Amino acid sequence: MNFTNFSFKEVYMFTLPDLPYAYNSLEPYIDEATMRIHHDKHHAAYIKNLNEALANQDKLQMLTVEELLQNLSRVPETIRTKVRNHGGGHANHTLFWQVMAPPEPNAAAPAGDLIKAINVTFGSLLTFQEKFTSITMGRFGSGWAWLVSVSGKLEIVDTPNQDTPLLEHKTPILGLDVWEHAYYLKYQNLRADYIKQWWNVINWREVEKRFAQSLVK
Ligand code: MN
Repeated sequence: MNFTNFSFKEVYMFTLPDLPYAYNSLEPYIDEATMRIHHDKHHAAYIKNLNEALANQDKLQMLTVEELLQNLSRVPETIRTKVRNHGGGHANHTLFWQVMAPPEPNAAAPAGDLIKAINVTFGSLLTFQEKFTSITMGRFGSGWAWLVSVSGKLEIVDTPNQDTPLLEHKTPILGLDVWEHAYYLKYQNLRADYIKQWWNVINWREVEKRFAQSLVK
């Protein structure tokens, strides 16, 4: 499978995509052991549970995970929570791996239409990062923080558990996992340190691509 191809339309049975880089290549900001457990165990478990939920659902098996999440009311009540949690987990982590990349000092800034939109909405990249960090720190318990595009208008939102902005028909273009499994081995209870270091491994080219795609939807 071509993991880096964003137009790839995966349907049931869902499979664990390879990381688009080595497990240790986000060091020293995100450690290899965390990446191995997070990808090989946590993400794999969401996929296994999602597949189990859909095992006898012929019609739902034809939908992508994004389509499932955007049409939860069509999912039978008996499996709706499973699809929401584990489908969300699959979609969220697939995005998460892609919007990170090994640190490259010379490429580590948003450019083009994305930085223009960030400046219009937030005033500056720094102000955006401060607001994003503040919302992420305010997320009680497990969840995610997101930069979303709503027809090109940027917003920062956060979600509990594995809920995705797709549930509200907002397009996530950057996401940060703040479940403890994402950072506890290296940062323990210091979520603020994890967030601060995470900015070093953003794949801004991927975020720019997702922003551009949100404009044509
Ligand atoms: Mn996670």
